[in-house]
Amino acid sequence: MTRIYLDHAATTPVRPEVLAAMMPYFTEEYGNASALHSAGQAGREAVEAARTNVAALIGAEPEEIYFTSGGTESDNQALRGVDCRTIITTAFEHKAVLNTCAFLEKQGVSVHYLQPSCEGIVTAEAVENVLAEIRDRADKSETGPILVSIMTANNELGTIQPIAEIGAVCRKYGVLFHTDAVQAVGHIPMNVNAMNIDLLSASAHKFGGPKGVGFLYVRKGVSMDPLLLGGGQEHGLRSGTLNTPGIVGLGKAAEIAVRELAAGDTAPSVADGDVSESTRITSMRDLFEQRILAELSGVSVNGSRNQSANAASMEEIRAPRLPGHSNLRIRDVESESLLILLDMKGICASGGSACAAGTEEVSHVLTAIGLTDDEASECVRFTFGSGVSDEDADRAAEIVIDSVRTLRKLRSGITE
Ligand code: PLP
Repeated sequence: MTRIYLDHAATTPVRPEVLAAMMPYFTEEYGNASALHSAGQAGREAVEAARTNVAALIGAEPEEIYFTSGGTESDNQALRGVDCRTIITTAFEHKAVLNTCAFLEKQGVSVHYLQPSCEGIVTAEAVENVLAEIRDRADKSETGPILVSIMTANNELGTIQPIAEIGAVCRKYGVLFHTDAVQAVGHIPMNVNAMNIDLLSASAHKFGGPKGVGFLYVRKGVSMDPLLLGGGQEHGLRSGTLNTPGIVGLGKAAEIAVRELAAGDTAPSVADGDVSESTRITSMRDLFEQRILAELSGVSVNGSRNQSANAASMEEIRAPRLPGHSNLRIRDVESESLLILLDMKGICASGGSACAAGTEEVSHVLTAIGLTDDEASECVRFTFGSGVSDEDADRAAEIVIDSVRTLRKLRSGITE
């Protein structure tokens, strides 16, 4: 049985080019990148080349990039490293942000949680309303420096937030803006200057790089305290021996992403057969959704403009979404049973975020967009990526349709 992997939001396979770039730094060039001898210097040069590639991916300067162990650490460093008394965030952030906010609340930081719309979007207007309310408040004791932290794209729904507009509002009010861009970096164009982002978290394993390495972008002039104290690497912000092979892999993944995103700017059209990778993935995801919506009743796309089952056209269901995400609610089917059946048939998908998977917890993202616990238990996330072909997507749709029919029959004798 060939496996069709549709869980790229949880993690992506390491690209062959990335692995090849990393290998020498495990074998011949194993020197500590902080050492002054030639073995160390070879590592140092590779780390600095990676920093340049990563900076280019988000329109930053290399000296604004700090390597970390991944998205979780970057989020923690951003939120806990800046001096702020108030945080404005959303109710559907990743747990790396939400649990850090809960920790900071216990330390006396005041946290405002914005609710996303049923489409999975938080508006710049909602951010501005809270900022204006705090500014106009008579009692100034609760305020102090403010940090806005809003994810670029939601990990379960794939919905893309209006980051440039939110950044403009933050600039207008003179507050710091952090975005958890773990799901977005490498998949959609990001530019920290055009979007007025001060702090940005990203992780290599979400875009073809290795696990356990990521980065935090810190705009020049933003002052930060380190989470980790030690040897003072990364200009004192992130102590610990540099993970040279991981950083090289991250740099190569960034270089590939820059190339592929640039191809997206120039690719003439899908019809010419000369499409960027993200266009290819989007159209494959759309074909998968279209087939399921056409052949099964009672299916809707979470994080979409139209929440009703069987929307008439893809235009109706297309909210700003990452290329690979498809989060479906399938009425009268327990997602857990479906996921087990799909796994037995070679399809890897997920019911919520990877970190929540395996727990009984209802997805806080799905409840934040207005689903009841029962409705949320009928949702499955499929996420497409580079190793998946159109044929795989079509085969996966067929298997999903068959499996849903089987489970519905078993449940109540309903036939399609
Ligand atoms: N933020 C978001 C939006 C994520 O999707 C994830 C991982 O799923 C993380 C943060 C955590 O990243 P990492 O796995 O690199 O710690």
